Amino acid sequence: MATTQTDSSNTPMPHIDTTCPKCSGTMLEGYTIDKGYGAFFQEIWLAGRPRSGWFGVSVPSTAVPIPVSRYRCENCGYLEFYARKEFKMK
Ligand SMILES: [Zn+2]
Repeated sequence: MATTQTDSSNTPMPHIDTTCPKCSGTMLEGYTIDKGYGAFFQEIWLAGRPRSGWFGVSVPSTAVPIPVSRYRCENCGYLEFYARKEFKMK
């Protein structure tokens, strides 16, 4: 299956199963944050493997960031990750 970075916010949200695959508990939507220079940022997904730069990971100017959302099982804490433009910070 080809990887696409062109999905737009017009793409309908796929069905996300909110039943935990580990324990069948209920999974809730959430997110994690990245912190830098005293501010918090939503985690993003980038295609490929990270390359080191002067200050940590070097992000190419051509990179297409896709916001990450996570679902957490209320019962066992299992986390599932999704990277979709629909999860962009409001
Ligand atoms: Zn669970």
